Amino acid sequence: MSILCCPVCRRPLERLDKVYKCPKGHSFDRAAKGYVNLLLSNEMNSKTPGDSPEMVRARTAFLDGGYYACLRNGLASLCLKLIEQNNQKTVRLIDTGCGEGYYTLGIYQTLCQSGFSPKMAGVDLSKSALKHASGRCREIEYAIASLFHLPAADGSLNLITDVFAPVAPQEFARVLAPGGYVVVAAPGVDHLWGMKQVVYEKPYANDDLPPEMPGFELVEKVEVSDNITVPHERIPDLFAMTPYFWKSPREGTANLMALEELNTPISFSLFVFRKL
Ligand SMILES: [Zn+2]
Repeated sequence: MSILCCPVCRRPLERLDKVYKCPKGHSFDRAAKGYVNLLLSNEMNSKTPGDSPEMVRARTAFLDGGYYACLRNGLASLCLKLIEQNNQKTVRLIDTGCGEGYYTLGIYQTLCQSGFSPKMAGVDLSKSALKHASGRCREIEYAIASLFHLPAADGSLNLITDVFAPVAPQEFARVLAPGGYVVVAAPGVDHLWGMKQVVYEKPYANDDLPPEMPGFELVEKVEVSDNITVPHERIPDLFAMTPYFWKSPREGTANLMALEELNTPISFSLFVFRKL
């Protein structure tokens, strides 16, 4: 049985070779790569929602270089710790806004290596991103869906991860079992400070505040950081992943692109919320 549920009637879905089916007969085609489109037509805001193929290509190229490995490892160990702390035998986890599945796979592998058989799914709006994600691992289920309308039954999950995606406290609370956790990853205070110094005359540090999560209590904050050296040819890929890509002065951008290599601190805050 799938961890996902029918977006129309919320009954459990069965994962078959070419389709997902619910007991009421609603059926959803699986792409050749394995992911399923559970986005209802009235939820689509544009013809190709989510990150574009170019954006996905840039991010995949950068992340596969291992520059953000500290976040992947930190997130995976934190998920493992939360599960072990709660003495949970079964793990049911959805990674919301999973993108190309870099972090999703890291969590999955860490849990498997520790003897768990996690039931995991990744949810994202970008078809291009899920093509990459489902090509990496067939055991993790991937669905095109909105994190504001998760294809999961009420109280069916014990963990949600959210890396740089918007938070949906009400929806997260609906799908989590009592005592379930949400781990939200956000940029830390001096994240990409080296890049900002090149791009902006007066760079500002990030505020590093936890997101508003009514219905949850913040139980822990874990910081992970590293210093990375990004070679010239990977700088445009990193830049395209950041919000600065959309609002940077032309001269600063040119200076960044001219660097032979970029040295910069990276830092992330992992906020752990428990459902009240
Ligand atoms: Zn149904």
